[in-house]
Amino acid sequence: MAKTDNNADWNLAPAPESTDHIHIDKRYELFIDGKFTAPSGKKYFKTVNPATEEVLAEIAEANGRDVDKAVKAARKAYNGVWSKISAKERAKYIFRIARLIQERAREFAVIESLDGGKPIRESRDVDVPTAAAHFFYHAGWADKLEYAFPVRKVSPLGVVGQIIPWNFPLLMAAWKIAPALATGNTVVLKPAETTSLTALKLAELIRDAGLPDGVVNIVTGAGATGRALTEHPDVDKIAFTGSTDVGKMIQRTVAGTDKKLTLELGGKAANIIFEDAPIDQAVEGIINGIFFNQGHVCCAGSRLFVQESVAAEVDRRLKHRMESLILGDPLDKNTDVGAINSKGQLETINSYLAKGKKEGLTMFQTDCPVPEKGFWCRPTLFSDVAQSSVIAREEIFGPVLAIQTFRTVDEVIDKANNTPYGLSAGVWTDKGSKIFNLTTRLKAGVVWANTYNKFDPTSPFGGYKESGFGREGGLHGLRAYVNLH
Ligand code: NAD
Repeated sequence: MAKTDNNADWNLAPAPESTDHIHIDKRYELFIDGKFTAPSGKKYFKTVNPATEEVLAEIAEANGRDVDKAVKAARKAYNGVWSKISAKERAKYIFRIARLIQERAREFAVIESLDGGKPIRESRDVDVPTAAAHFFYHAGWADKLEYAFPVRKVSPLGVVGQIIPWNFPLLMAAWKIAPALATGNTVVLKPAETTSLTALKLAELIRDAGLPDGVVNIVTGAGATGRALTEHPDVDKIAFTGSTDVGKMIQRTVAGTDKKLTLELGGKAANIIFEDAPIDQAVEGIINGIFFNQGHVCCAGSRLFVQESVAAEVDRRLKHRMESLILGDPLDKNTDVGAINSKGQLETINSYLAKGKKEGLTMFQTDCPVPEKGFWCRPTLFSDVAQSSVIAREEIFGPVLAIQTFRTVDEVIDKANNTPYGLSAGVWTDKGSKIFNLTTRLKAGVVWANTYNKFDPTSPFGGYKESGFGREGGLHGLRAYVNLH
């Protein structure tokens, strides 16, 4: 192994994770009332490995009748069992799910990377352990709700419909199901159509955990399946995570009904580097915030603001570090940047790259090799970006970073807040006072200081403005699943 000035010359031997221990069926049915059930329309769609374009399995497509069956099963389970058993019993089931996820962690991590394209390092070290942590955390709350909401009487909402995106398939499922169960609700969950596999594996695990039939139902399909769930009259709450456009449609559907609603939507996070920041640490945080996981993160730090005096240095170090990123096989433990989740998403990202070039922005892309098959996008950086540029305004959801500079604190706060979104932000500085100033004035649900993309089930997560409303995680997250009297 030889190292030169350019880190790209490091040649690491491939270190692929084994797939021997996993099993993927040829076909997956809907999980309704504790059983895997064929869809009434007899329709199936294919789920594809985005790194190879190979078909992994066929997935059942739920229509309105199937969704109705799932909601009825959830209602029956709510009335008959789940709202009746003691909170301690509920907790035992949720703990059991958490432990089973830990036991099958490797299997879940590999399937997540195969189906979604994310590097195994991410699915192994972030997605799966955090999913288990959500079940552990919420299991702990199940019999302590009177302490979560002192002097109030707490009751569940009933049947909740949950719709999730493709960027954290298992983690989003856990993030939604765990608090709903802990607070005594029953669930109908719809995963995203490109990444249904780990939700269906979770269905197997839930069945193995002995959860009473109908407490969790999983219906697969695309937008029409989601719509049937949001329109169903017997659903008491919709919890949606996904794009702002679909979130707005759901808000219109739910308006005028007595359904409760939480929306976790898009983002265009600002990552801000001050001249007094530890620059190497900041650069690593920027890389983590936008390039690891292909920028497929709602809170990806896609806008970088650098104080003018250190702009040239940050630019140089950032490009140098970008050149050392390893793009390729998501199952390889050395991989930093995996595959783009779907052909459609790659087309969206490429259309933004074309728009950026058309606007006359300076585009820098690493020259790492790209596999012939599959969907890939090299880490990309646009400099000299104006506030009005489409690259700075719209969510791209890919490994694309827009750099702007600033001189003063007030200027960067104005620029960072000048977006319809408000999900997250990052601040890099040596000064605690600057951190406190910015965290109170940035309009973002989460502000990380000298770190980025850190998640914990005890910490509430959610957005301002068009990034949605309601919080998930922590006490605030529990509140969204209960009535208080
Ligand atoms: P999307 O809105 O296209 O799809 C999300 C889910 O909604 C999918 O399951 C999809 O099948 C379903 N859906 C589509 N049309 C629907 C309709 N009319 N009615 C009901 N359901 C419908 O989003 P996506 O492309 O899967 O995910 C990427 C988006 O998710 C990005 O905007 C990202 O920022 C956002 N996201 C937000 C968070 C957060 O916590 N705020 C987390 C992850 C992703």
